[in-house]
Amino acid sequence: MSTNLESFSSAKALIPGGVNSPVRAFGSVGGTPRFLVSARGAYVTDVEGRDYVDLVASWGPALLGHAHPQTVEAVKQAAERGLSFGASTPGETELAQRVIDRLSPAVEKVRLVSTGTEATMTAIRLARGFTGRDLLVKFAGHYHGHSDGLLAEAGSGIATLSLPGSAGVPAAVAAQTLVVPYNDLDALRIVFSEHGDRIAAVITEAAAANMGVVAPDAGFNAALIDLAHAHGALVILDEVLTGFRVSEAGWWGLDGRDGSPAYTPDLFTFGKVIGGGMPIAAIAGSAKIMDFLAPVGPVYQAGTLSGNPLAVAAGIATLTAADAAVYQHLDRTAAIIASATSEALSHHGVAHSVQRAGNLFSFAFREGAPRTYEQVKQQDAFRYGPFFHSMLDSGVSLPPSVFEAWFVTAAHDDTAVSRILDALPAAAKAAAAA
Ligand code: PMP
Repeated sequence: MSTNLESFSSAKALIPGGVNSPVRAFGSVGGTPRFLVSARGAYVTDVEGRDYVDLVASWGPALLGHAHPQTVEAVKQAAERGLSFGASTPGETELAQRVIDRLSPAVEKVRLVSTGTEATMTAIRLARGFTGRDLLVKFAGHYHGHSDGLLAEAGSGIATLSLPGSAGVPAAVAAQTLVVPYNDLDALRIVFSEHGDRIAAVITEAAAANMGVVAPDAGFNAALIDLAHAHGALVILDEVLTGFRVSEAGWWGLDGRDGSPAYTPDLFTFGKVIGGGMPIAAIAGSAKIMDFLAPVGPVYQAGTLSGNPLAVAAGIATLTAADAAVYQHLDRTAAIIASATSEALSHHGVAHSVQRAGNLFSFAFREGAPRTYEQVKQQDAFRYGPFFHSMLDSGVSLPPSVFEAWFVTAAHDDTAVSRILDALPAAAKAAAAA
């Protein structure tokens, strides 16, 4: 049996930083990343045979818990029939129908791709092709994947590593993206008044969850859509993280429900839960816009593995099992863990704000809820490392960055939640002592 340390050393010799996605390297919390060998329900197990209650959930996809039996069975059966055909399958239409059932009338057509990055990249190209304009507006602290135009002041790993963006992005490409503070309609109005007729689209996380969780102000999404539409620009609601997680119809479904103004974005992007742990993502919207995609329209997009039959099977099984009871369980479990964590931090005098967006939550180590990326950065982020490691030592795996959301699953039962609650006092004490 090798140790986590040995696994990490071997990986570093062959893989940059030892990881295939930067945040996995524990860059901001320090220490040795756990190398995992299996995952089941609410637990993950590392190479040393230790198990952890998991609040990463593969960064979102594991809505039902890891290795959910119906999902695994569906993938096994699909595998028996062949791994990839490079031709259309009935399952792709079925998955598209599931998405439309949950998001009608805002969604009429769906195109499947393999990653969230591809989904947002394609949505932006589609918006540009549809409007005949070039500029893109994004919000500081939002993460939409790693394509060239989207890394300016991005959240997730870019925030964790305190980078302004990425090397290797041509200046001419970066210049096509205008970055605006989140939850700041006045700033958005100014950008539209200066560049309105050149803006193809605004892309926004439906509720920001890559700078820690920062929900949009009530009415913000609706107002930004009105503003964009007044200038002939489209809005891409990025639900890669929130879609099918915070409700049956994602954040869009929640926003409508709480009495805030209803709105219809032009395009949605989905990922994570839609593939239940397999690589599926999607672009979705009205037929009028979606039919601008090839082969019907002039905007090109393609993929050898797009709509892969195993991934589609996992997606259908996940959306089939994710019923109202699942979402109620997620909401309840998130509320219990969030309030217990807050109590533990308060008990040890650690200033913090509980950041919630439906069943997604995180903690900002500061007084008062941050609404923008600038405010998010003004926190005692150094307290998170000791908090994180204390939880890990107690058998609870949290996201290894203060700028990431905590994810619960349908498999987090009383036993799993108890382990989390039992671990909190020591972790809060470690955060206080930092
Ligand atoms: N958009 C959002 C809102 C995301 O959270 C992510 C991934 N965390 C992406 C896009 C990119 O998805 P992927 O990692 O599958 O490329």
